[in-house]
Amino acid sequence: MIRILAVSDVELGQLYSSSVKDRYSDVDLVLSLGDLPMYYLDFISSTLNLPLYYVLGNHHAAPSRARSGTDALSADWESGVNIHQRNQLFDGRLIVMGMEGSIRYNYGPAQYTQERMWRMCIRRVPSLMMNYALRGRYLDIFATHSPPFKIQDADDPPHIGFKAFRWFLKTFRPQYHLHGHIHLYRQDAIRETVYYQTRIVNCYGYQVIEIDPPKRREKSEF
Ligand SMILES: [Zn+2]
Repeated sequence: MIRILAVSDVELGQLYSSSVKDRYSDVDLVLSLGDLPMYYLDFISSTLNLPLYYVLGNHHAAPSRARSGTDALSADWESGVNIHQRNQLFDGRLIVMGMEGSIRYNYGPAQYTQERMWRMCIRRVPSLMMNYALRGRYLDIFATHSPPFKIQDADDPPHIGFKAFRWFLKTFRPQYHLHGHIHLYRQDAIRETVYYQTRIVNCYGYQVIEIDPPKRREKSEF
């Protein structure tokens, strides 16, 4: 079993505290779905002494400590791995792939048109096919900032989801699609939807995700 502390969009005092070590000692990976500042993520991952994977949101899109001379939007943070458009194998068995940003609404950073997101998703197909050939599945976790179109998204221009994500989930059927971007203010707000075989979870604030990736045809090379 792999436990993931997924965080997104809002800083929580209960995580930005040294007691995070006691509360989440059984977690294996910290995953940010975007719109969080780097000092917050760095604090959580270093206090827990865990690896950090992240995608950028449409806010906090430019890491202030990105290595000089590299593209601020795509640079890895010192302690984290930017999984935007990248296949990442965690612990030799969990396949995670990310897509950063939101729909384009004011030409800010990490904003994409529907068409551009279609192209970015389609570009990932060869690597997903390779996963399938090597491991018998395309991926386990799809990690994005934005939700899919008409699933846990909203009608105002900045919060419309991506149409390509619906196709992606229907075609590649990850166990989870984790996203942020949509703020949840009510206790009874919908946080999770099942779409084909995928649990789509809004990780606004935080969520602890448990996943048991299937053991099949493991190879040392990925
Ligand atoms: Zn956002």
